[in-house]
Amino acid sequence: AIWNLGSINADMVYAVPHLPGPGETLAATGLERFLGGKGANMSVAAARAGAHVAHIGAVGADGGWAVERLTEYGVDTRFVARLDHATGHAIIAVDDAGENQIILFPGANRQIGEAQLGEALGGASDGDILLIQNETSAQRAAAHLARERGLRVCYAAAPFDAQAVQAVLPYLDLLILNQVEAAQLQEATGSPPEKLGVRDVIVTLGAQGAAHFDSEAGTRRDYPAHRVEAVDTTGAGDTFTGYVLAALDLGLPMPQAIGQAMRAAALMVMRHGTADVIPDLKEVLEARFA
Ligand code: ADP
Repeated sequence: AIWNLGSINADMVYAVPHLPGPGETLAATGLERFLGGKGANMSVAAARAGAHVAHIGAVGADGGWAVERLTEYGVDTRFVARLDHATGHAIIAVDDAGENQIILFPGANRQIGEAQLGEALGGASDGDILLIQNETSAQRAAAHLARERGLRVCYAAAPFDAQAVQAVLPYLDLLILNQVEAAQLQEATGSPPEKLGVRDVIVTLGAQGAAHFDSEAGTRRDYPAHRVEAVDTTGAGDTFTGYVLAALDLGLPMPQAIGQAMRAAALMVMRHGTADVIPDLKEVLEARFA
C-alpha cells in the first residue's frame, strides 16, 4: 500500500477580463471549483494506476466535498482529518489570454500533527511506501516514523524548499525532482542530487523525459518522453510520481515503473485539468504513441 502524506486543495478558478492590479476591484465572469493540491493529485494518480492509496491529510469544515471526491476516485480517506482551519485553497485568476495569477493558502494542510501520523501509520506494513511532498506539515516526523516502521520513503521535492528537502534526506529511499528543483537542490547542497546518499533519484525533464540514477549501482539511465501535442502540462509531474510509486508498490522493477509513468504523464499533457482527468491504468496501457 501507499501512504501519502499530502495536501488537499480547492482550486478556485476565476475567469477575469484581465489580471487585477494593485487597488483594483474586478468582477470575475466565471468560477469553477476543482479538487487540487499536489498531494491529492498524486493520490488520485496512484489509485488510478491500481495501487491501494491511503491519504493522510486534513481539511476544514468547508472541505467535505474534496474528501468525497477523493473517495470517489478510489482513495482511502479514513486518515483525512477534519480540523478547525480553512481547507487549503488556491485562488486562481485566468485572463482572456490564458495568463494566470495564483494565491495559495495552505490552511489545514499545514496543521497536520504527529498524533495523526502515528494513528495512520499504525496500520502500515513492512514494505509499504510513504510518499511526501512539500505542501503539508509534519514531513520530517512522517519520514522518521515510516523508516522506523519499515516503510520505503519517497519525497517529491515540490514546491521546492531547500530546508524541507534537507530535513527528510536522511530517511529517503527515492527522491523525485524536476530539472529546476534538481538545480536548486544542487545549489543548496553543493552536490548533484544523485550524490546525496539517496538510493534512487529520478529527475523529470519535461518533454525530454526523465533520468533515473541508481546510486548503489552508480548508474544513470535515460527515458525519452513520448512525442505528443502538449496542451496543458499542469499535473504531469504529479501524475508521473503517482504512477511510478503505484508500479513500485505493485512490485514492478524501476524501468517498467518509469515506463508506465511516462505514458501516463504523456496522456496528461494532452488534456486540460488535473485530478479529475488523470488517466487510469487501462488507458495508459492501451494508449498508442507515435
Ligand atoms: P513538472 O510538471 O513537475 O515540472 P516535468 O515538466 O519534468 O515535471 O514533467 C513530468 C513528466 O511529464 C516528464 O518526465 C514527462 O514524462 C512528462 N511530460 C512533461 N511534458 C511533456 C511533453 N511536452 N511531452 C511529453 N511528456 C511530457
